[in-house]
Amino acid sequence: MKRLFVANWKMNKTRAETREFLSRFYELAADFASNASVTVCPPFTALDCASAFLGAQSNVRFDLGAQNIHWEGNGAFTGDISGAMLLDFGVKSVIVGHSERYQYFGETPGNVSRRAAAALKIGVRPIICVGEKREDFEAGRSKDVVLHQLQESLEQIPEIADGSIVIAYEPVWAIGTGLAATPEIAEGMHRAIRTVLCERFGKTGGESVAILYGGSVTPENIASYIAQPNVNGALVGGASLVAEKFAALVQGGSN
Ligand code: PEP
Repeated sequence: MKRLFVANWKMNKTRAETREFLSRFYELAADFASNASVTVCPPFTALDCASAFLGAQSNVRFDLGAQNIHWEGNGAFTGDISGAMLLDFGVKSVIVGHSERYQYFGETPGNVSRRAAAALKIGVRPIICVGEKREDFEAGRSKDVVLHQLQESLEQIPEIADGSIVIAYEPVWAIGTGLAATPEIAEGMHRAIRTVLCERFGKTGGESVAILYGGSVTPENIASYIAQPNVNGALVGGASLVAEKFAALVQGGSN
């Protein structure tokens, strides 16, 4: 399986800043190893210019993702975005259930599952996030919480094609804090997630799913995560905002 690196820009970058990043990142990406697969998820407002930029280049070594999707195709959902709208910009993947959506916008695993199913239905790969809060980690119930959240998030997905979904394990206490989980903690959780995926989708299906670690990943620590057998890449926030830094992270994780 290729190693997957996903940039989650969150609510950052105007269109001008997006173009600036992409033109530099495009140059740097020419040197990426062939086993690296890279997705950049700008805010919705920058998808148009990102798509136009990428469409004008040849041999682009990364693709475009989005940060959320509604489960309905259209309708009275003020402020939301549909899969068809994302497809308009050539979006290939979409993050669903990021912990910031749970924390600030009332996200639920049930709706995450509907979002993921809607994405799959139109051929967009959902990147389904799961992760425990600090109090769960400290109380030693990380696995119970995360595996339960995973099962609920998969409820509307009876089957998958190889590689059609991605899971991102992001301990909430590690996101944007500089307190990354140790590679051993990440591997332990990823192994447990893999077991659930294999039970649910069969061995071949479960083993085809990329499981990303997210939470304060940097160019300096990425190699230690990638060295773990069940860590197939990273979902990256802060370190994805500067082209040189994100490129160094991709390179550090795919050499
Ligand atoms: C994220 O937003 O998904 C994330 C992992 O952020 P950071 O890399 O900044 O911890």
